[in-house]
Amino acid sequence: MKRFLLAATATLLLSACDMSMDKGAVTALDMPDVADGTLSEETMKRVTERLASDEFEGRAPGTAGEEKTIAYLIEEFEKAGLEPGNNGSWVQDVPLVEITGKDFAPLTIAGGKGDTMELAYATDWVGVTYREDTKTVLEDSELVFVGYGINAPEKGWNDYEGLDMKGKTAVILVNDPDFGAETLEGPFNGKAMTYYGRWTYKYEEAGRQGAAGAIIIHDTAPAAYGWNVVESSWSGPQAYAARGDNPPPMTQVNGWVQKPVAERIFKAAGKDLGKLSAAAREKGFKAVPLGLTASTSFTNDIRTFASKNVIGVLPGSERADEYVMHTAHWDHLGRCTPAPDGDDICNGAVDNATGTAALVALAEAHAKAGPAKRSLVFLAVTAEESGLLGADYYAANPVFPLNKTVGGINMDAFLMAGAAKDVTVVGPGKSQLDLFLDKALMNDDRVTTPNPNPEAGYYYRSDHFAFAKRGVPMLYLDGGEDLVEGGPDAGAAVAAEYREKRYHGPKDEYDSNWDWSGVMSDLALFYRIGRMLADSTSWPNWNEGDEFKATRDQDCAAEGAGCGA
Ligand SMILES: [Zn+2]
Repeated sequence: MKRFLLAATATLLLSACDMSMDKGAVTALDMPDVADGTLSEETMKRVTERLASDEFEGRAPGTAGEEKTIAYLIEEFEKAGLEPGNNGSWVQDVPLVEITGKDFAPLTIAGGKGDTMELAYATDWVGVTYREDTKTVLEDSELVFVGYGINAPEKGWNDYEGLDMKGKTAVILVNDPDFGAETLEGPFNGKAMTYYGRWTYKYEEAGRQGAAGAIIIHDTAPAAYGWNVVESSWSGPQAYAARGDNPPPMTQVNGWVQKPVAERIFKAAGKDLGKLSAAAREKGFKAVPLGLTASTSFTNDIRTFASKNVIGVLPGSERADEYVMHTAHWDHLGRCTPAPDGDDICNGAVDNATGTAALVALAEAHAKAGPAKRSLVFLAVTAEESGLLGADYYAANPVFPLNKTVGGINMDAFLMAGAAKDVTVVGPGKSQLDLFLDKALMNDDRVTTPNPNPEAGYYYRSDHFAFAKRGVPMLYLDGGEDLVEGGPDAGAAVAAEYREKRYHGPKDEYDSNWDWSGVMSDLALFYRIGRMLADSTSWPNWNEGDEFKATRDQDCAAEGAGCGA
């Protein structure tokens, strides 16, 4: 995934209120020097171009493209001056299962007013199974509109209240009931998306409710991407973390329908999607059986394999058992729906050859500067595009204990927009890492811009989230959009061009004419933040009231925790 800006609306400096850590301690840190030529644009270009070349076939986990990618990254990490990060090995095996659906029958909707509807696969709907079943059959499954499909006891909100979903199919709105709010006030943090708004959550919850199927109604604004993205991401091989002997409850079919298709379904049921969607935003909403049934079937090819995370470390000189994390996903979509010219390799140059190259460039710069006091970790994770699987696997099976991991920086897709007057903070105000960011910006002319569309929930959509939900503070920044040349309009145009023409498609390709100046300023910022974290004795925490603070506090209370000191 990749967050892409819709519009830069406001620029303001983040306030450092409600911080329990001593702000003075951060201000007093020495500003790390980024010596000329330490951060190499040449490295960024070379590594990005190579990873995005057709030779790597779009870097899909479990393919020949993965083997080439892993071998290449090890070579680059070693050359940069890192040591193997996993007890003498450069890699961590990540067990995955790949399920490829095929021979899709239409999605048949029956029982309403008018004719039975035969919805065409790909254009009207897409679906997969999470289960390791060779044949998936959904037969006359009753459709129930469950609003946003949220069961949040701490908010007193349950869209499944009183329902028995066994054998039935949940029809679910994307995002959460506060979508469209102007402010950050509301049961679901107003305009900022919560985890309850993510599709991953909705399928998990439908599974917990015992539903046979879960169908999300696609809508471009609240989903934050178009149907083309759903279609390309949800067709073809789908990878999951292997479940072992104790799989969580899962539906048989998880899918999406286009919004106009959903409108037809609701009409056939004698209902109005718009009215019911409005009702679903109110607390106390009651789910609505649609009086229709859904049927479909497809077969699945199942393959289990191990993918790999690549881990390099630059051991610290004084506190080598305390770690500062850098993450970026190396994987992309592999071979994909062809462009009109027949090009069927989703090269993922921006997403995320650039972030992976940044791991190499940062490693190189830190190695040249010599060891920091704490250890610096560089983790290239797999299967982000399939749902943060590599990062999630690492965080569940950490090589370096999470309560000895100070915090970190995630890098996912640098837009080649040129130099900017700002830097975008995705999820601003979450943790005391913001103090390090503010300090690192002191030598820059740039300001921070809070993520302009918090409703898209980007903080939950890249690899840092796997760490955050287990308590490790993580910073997720993005290039600015208020460009030195052309201002916010020019920045918005670059983002729109990428989103519409390249994102998750075959044309996300390397371009030798790219202007790297903005990216190099971002890297200098990451370098300073990483270096200050690694040279300090601070343990930044989540801010008071943040959803991840309780988890960190608990982890830090364990015996031997670095962060408990
Ligand atoms: Zn990405």
